[in-house]
Amino acid sequence: MTRPAWTPLCVPHSAAPLAIHLGAKQAECYGCLAIPASWLTDGRWQPLKRFLPTRFRPDLSTPFLQPRPVPLPLWGWNLRSLLAREHWDQIRREAYRDCGYRCRICGMIGADWPVEADEVWACDDRTNVQSLETVTGICSACHGVRHWGRTSTSGKQAAALRHMAAVNGMSMQACQTLVQARMDEWLNRSERVWDLDISWVARTYGFPSRPDAAANAAAEHENLTRAAERSFF
Ligand SMILES: [Zn+2]
Repeated sequence: MTRPAWTPLCVPHSAAPLAIHLGAKQAECYGCLAIPASWLTDGRWQPLKRFLPTRFRPDLSTPFLQPRPVPLPLWGWNLRSLLAREHWDQIRREAYRDCGYRCRICGMIGADWPVEADEVWACDDRTNVQSLETVTGICSACHGVRHWGRTSTSGKQAAALRHMAAVNGMSMQACQTLVQARMDEWLNRSERVWDLDISWVARTYGFPSRPDAAANAAAEHENLTRAAERSFF
């Protein structure tokens, strides 16, 4: 396969003058600001690091994309359930804008809409706390890999595995092994009781949880687990 001549960038509209000043050019093939792919090997990417999708970052190593399933007891305990509608809308729309409406992981855009909001959680297996680290914009194909359980019950795992292999530069077999490891980890985590830490929202935006957050998340948890049971049995 020939190496693409250009590497797409995630540039928010407000930062376009800076990116252009640093050497980014409009690439017709992507319809966005981009840098020559050769810059990834000669160091000239570094001033544009904040705009570079993860998969192209020379300072990071693969896997760039793998499943990050939420432990079963926390299904439904997401920002959409826990925050007022207008607060969640502001957070997700800022995530879309901040990535210039291109996937932060692979640099591409989705078939139906450019990007979706991905809540990035960290699970601490010592304290059993799942903490929100950020919300970012990624394409539907990368999002499908992140939420592997949902993808596999909808019969889309073959396409998700192909996307994962392409983004990571790994074989299908190696990706399958990685998926299995993440799902084993998920089974183990799902047997434990977890606490949730969404203090990132208050720190970043100053938004409180909605007054009925716990009841609303519990209802959403019920909906999601029932739907999963229906798809399994
Ligand atoms: Zn993507």
